Amino acid sequence: MVENKPKLVVALIGPPGSGKGTQGMLLAEKLGLYYFETSKILEGKFKEATDDEFVEVNSQKFFIKDEHQLWLDGILCSPPFVSYLVQEKIKGLHQKGENLLLSGSPRTLHEAQEIMPFLAGLYGAGNIKIVFLDISAQETIFRNSNRRICDLMRHPILYNEETKDLTKCAFDGSDLVKRKGLDDPETIKIRLTQFEERTMPILKYCEENGYKVSKVNGEGSVAKVFERIIKSLS
Ligand SMILES: [Zn+2]
Repeated sequence: MVENKPKLVVALIGPPGSGKGTQGMLLAEKLGLYYFETSKILEGKFKEATDDEFVEVNSQKFFIKDEHQLWLDGILCSPPFVSYLVQEKIKGLHQKGENLLLSGSPRTLHEAQEIMPFLAGLYGAGNIKIVFLDISAQETIFRNSNRRICDLMRHPILYNEETKDLTKCAFDGSDLVKRKGLDDPETIKIRLTQFEERTMPILKYCEENGYKVSKVNGEGSVAKVFERIIKSLS
């Protein structure tokens, strides 16, 4: 019975390149969670949108084209726009009885103030766990400038000795590509500043409002970081 399944939401928060994608997919598999990637929802919306399409939130219009441009510039999309899309998607997943692994959501205080109470209403505040993946700015820049994803499923490919010469995804055989624009050094710097100024404040908000926040060292091997995260959740 769906009702008997213990509810759980894990939210991975961290700067670009902190491993939210890689660790998120592993955690989702290990814990049986739906892997919820905010950037995938946004990119999907950008891809399918017509030129004059907009989303209306609280009688304010957000044009998809404008949001896409912010995204390409490394600026976080308008919080009400993101918050609306995320809540719509979460609503549907909750109805299906899914537990969630949120990768990169919430990413602004505005989103946190809307999404956290929304999640608490559906899953119970005590079942929401926030994990902050902490890595240095230097490591962020290194990882992002070498990052690739697969063209078909967006599988994140870590940069290391074993993977640096790979050209195809090991899971589905599609080409490995760089994320256009997003992972350019200049854009990464903007994204880092955005993270520090706009995303970091949500950790304080979450703590002050009684959500469990664990800080995990995100540097080191994937396996090591994964182990730390699992430990922090128990
Ligand atoms: Zn793939």
